[in-house]
Amino acid sequence: MAAAQTEELVTRKGTHVTSIIWKWFGFDKADVEQTTVVCKVFRNAIKTKSSSTTNLFQHLRQKHPTEWEQCSQLRECSVGSTSKDKHDHAGKRQQTLAASFSKAVPYDKCSARWKQKNESGVSILKVSAVQTTNAAK
Ligand SMILES: [Zn+2]
Repeated sequence: MAAAQTEELVTRKGTHVTSIIWKWFGFDKADVEQTTVVCKVFRNAIKTKSSSTTNLFQHLRQKHPTEWEQCSQLRECSVGSTSKDKHDHAGKRQQTLAASFSKAVPYDKCSARWKQKNESGVSILKVSAVQTTNAAK
């Protein structure tokens, strides 16, 4: 029966079986040359060149939305493509950076102290020049 046949599905032969797509696809054991890719979800044969995983991704996306969802998540983890999760992480990191920056070195205070300790000097002139420019704007 169909249930027994499921056990006979084998993964793709070869040294470059790194694509996670083979989590959902395999080959019939009887198909020694592995010419026909079999979808593990419904056990339907897919006509594709065995070397190309593009069609397999396409099949999963079109026919099995649930599996495609899992696949997408796994791909995002391994490939590191843009994802909603990643955006969240970036936002958090930015917040942390801004928080630690304002906490560590209050810029105005720092420059004021610099002014007091160096009554004369080119650096002070530069600072006041910048301040004037900013005020003019
Ligand atoms: Zn399928």
